[in-house]
Amino acid sequence: MNTMVQEAESHEFVPRVIPPPEGRYLHRTVRDDGICVLTFDRPGSTANIFDRATLEELQHELDFIESGQNITGLILISAKPTIFIAGLDLRQITEMTSLADIGELLAFGQAQISRLTQLKIPTVAAIHGAAVGGGYEIALACDYRLATPDKVTKIGLPETNLGLLPAWGGATRLPRLVGLPRALDFILAGKTTSAQGALRLGLVDQLVPAERLVRAAARAIQKGKSHRPSHWLANNPLTVAFLAPPMRRRLFQKTRGHYPAVLKAFEVMSGGVTRSVSASLALERKGILELARSESTHNLLRLFFMRERAKKRVLNDSMPRLEPKPINHTAVIGAGVMGAGIAQWLSSRGLTVVLRDVNTGQVAHGMAGIAKLYQDGIRHHVFTHRDARDGLDRIAPAPAEVPLRHMDLVIEAAVEKLELKKKIFQKLDELAGEETILATNTSALPVSELASATRRPERVLGLHFFNPVHRMQLVEVVAGQATSPEALLRAVRFVQRIGKLPVIVKDSPGFLVNRILMPYLIEAGILFEHGADLEQLDEAMLDFGMPMGPMRLLDEVGLDVALHVAQTLAAHFGDRLRVPVILSRMVEARVLGRKSGTGFYLHDRKMRPNPPLKAFVQSNSAHSLTRDDLQERMYFLMLNEAARCLEEKVVSTPEDIDFAMIMGTGFAPFRGGPLRYADSLGIEKIVGAMEILADCGAKQYAPCVLLKQMASDGSKFYPNP
Ligand code: NAD
Repeated sequence: MNTMVQEAESHEFVPRVIPPPEGRYLHRTVRDDGICVLTFDRPGSTANIFDRATLEELQHELDFIESGQNITGLILISAKPTIFIAGLDLRQITEMTSLADIGELLAFGQAQISRLTQLKIPTVAAIHGAAVGGGYEIALACDYRLATPDKVTKIGLPETNLGLLPAWGGATRLPRLVGLPRALDFILAGKTTSAQGALRLGLVDQLVPAERLVRAAARAIQKGKSHRPSHWLANNPLTVAFLAPPMRRRLFQKTRGHYPAVLKAFEVMSGGVTRSVSASLALERKGILELARSESTHNLLRLFFMRERAKKRVLNDSMPRLEPKPINHTAVIGAGVMGAGIAQWLSSRGLTVVLRDVNTGQVAHGMAGIAKLYQDGIRHHVFTHRDARDGLDRIAPAPAEVPLRHMDLVIEAAVEKLELKKKIFQKLDELAGEETILATNTSALPVSELASATRRPERVLGLHFFNPVHRMQLVEVVAGQATSPEALLRAVRFVQRIGKLPVIVKDSPGFLVNRILMPYLIEAGILFEHGADLEQLDEAMLDFGMPMGPMRLLDEVGLDVALHVAQTLAAHFGDRLRVPVILSRMVEARVLGRKSGTGFYLHDRKMRPNPPLKAFVQSNSAHSLTRDDLQERMYFLMLNEAARCLEEKVVSTPEDIDFAMIMGTGFAPFRGGPLRYADSLGIEKIVGAMEILADCGAKQYAPCVLLKQMASDGSKFYPNP
């Protein structure tokens, strides 16, 4: 039981406990002052979620309160240390096969939550931990919302990220609480915010330390039912009629029509705010039932479950059963872009880090970058001043050689040169303790070759973080030929513990994400060389649903880096990966993308195409390709490489590929990843179109063996959708 309940019991009153008949998730305590405290505490779980059974218990409790028990007020709290209520059990809803069942569960949830608003007594949500989705919607139905200022307390309505909308009253009550514009901003972006952010936005009324939460809630009850301003100016029909059409247009442009949940949430909120609460709730239900039919929603929900799986991932049966020793002490070799980013992330997660670089100036530069990341974090309420200070204190900058004997893990993030990295690994092998795991952050160099430079190849592996480290959640955990299952498991647990999402990949050129992404970027370069318009290439892939067009991405990555990875891959894959001449020419001319100020684009405020590049165009053969042609050509190459990765067992399942491509490159999440999208298009159709292109001389389109085989036997990557 948490401290709040203990406080309620020990300091203020002697509780009268009346257990409900089937009180499994909700525990009732009625205090001597008549205040009823309902504590959410789902057994055998660290989270409280809403499912049918929990709602039925809530119904029972509301019956009790309404049945004249002299209850003077109601406090909702949680006994979990980090969760208030985490929302609806999504598994329950995805397992429902009929829309009628979904509609019924929705209506039942809405009805119970709405009963809270109709109680004659004051009600308070006393929030400690995450109150997200349905968890915040139940709080919205209370008169008051108090929250602890702790880091674990988060308020969010992330439904649109899952292809849904807040349909247990969230889309109805938030606009009434904070005004339509602010509510739209929060719900359409699927935001989750800290307690401080929530207070600023008016999502909670007051921040109270955890040990005083129940007392403060009881005081709020003494104030009686709450009366709020009506936001009549923002929410009145005239304002809404005036502002809605341009906003709808902007939303459509922004989502390119790919995210129906965002548009639907907008329709429900702007339509509902000018109607009665019950009419607005009906709009919420209708909206969800429409979204439940959309493939986009199914794919976004699948992505949610893939993330959950990566967070908890247990390795396969051949893995050791014993939990490995945790990693607490680390060193990072190289204080450049990646090294500094990794060091900052690890220190923010409570690990100590030695940050080593051969270049003293680079150590100082790296530390300055880390300090800036912490400052930005403070500004965005991710860190307190104290978090930032403690985080920085955990990093020891090292411009000279230091002993690494007591390190659990060393991550090498020096420049991408095989011979240099081999020397570094030799040295690390001497400096590190016997148990220390040595990892490389290389983008494409062979991990097994680096391992062979040491006397501990079984404890060498790849930990491929993506740039920028503080934003990108995916980490490829690369198993070298000799990496032991113990070391691999330890690395996976480490990645999970630092709040990143691991995907285990075999040591092969470019691993998984870069290997699949590179043919696509290279093809964009080739199409440009053959006359395709720069902006059309980018627009085509933005329309497809990528977060950034390929030419712009090349500029952001850096053309020298892209060229290096492309050449490494081309050396292995020969014919089917021809590096476009333009890349080498641009690198020779030091036109490197954003970092040099010019690339395919001029990186000033206007971001116009770089006119002199026209001189590199070799032919006009791609000039008249349509948007669909361009998309198809670039997408086909990603799919082909993804299928090859499966064929070569770089990963073990199609989910691993789809998940890694969405998390590592932003591959159109609503399409479910390259392989899920291939299934939806039809493998036979794809193979047919690729063969035509290959027959016309573009050898890179020749479909791989797995695709051809699937086309001939009619199989799918996901036989059971
Ligand atoms: P960078 O050039 O920014 O930094 C490399 C650092 O390594 C420099 O500060 C350099 O002084 C230092 N260094 C060189 N030799 C060293 C040695 N012997 N000991 C210690 N430090 C040494 O490079 P980066 O972009 O941070 O990339 C680092 C690694 O991460 C590369 O292997 C790269 O392929 C990989 N990577 C880069 C990205 C990216 O987007 N930049 C993404 C993923 C992985």
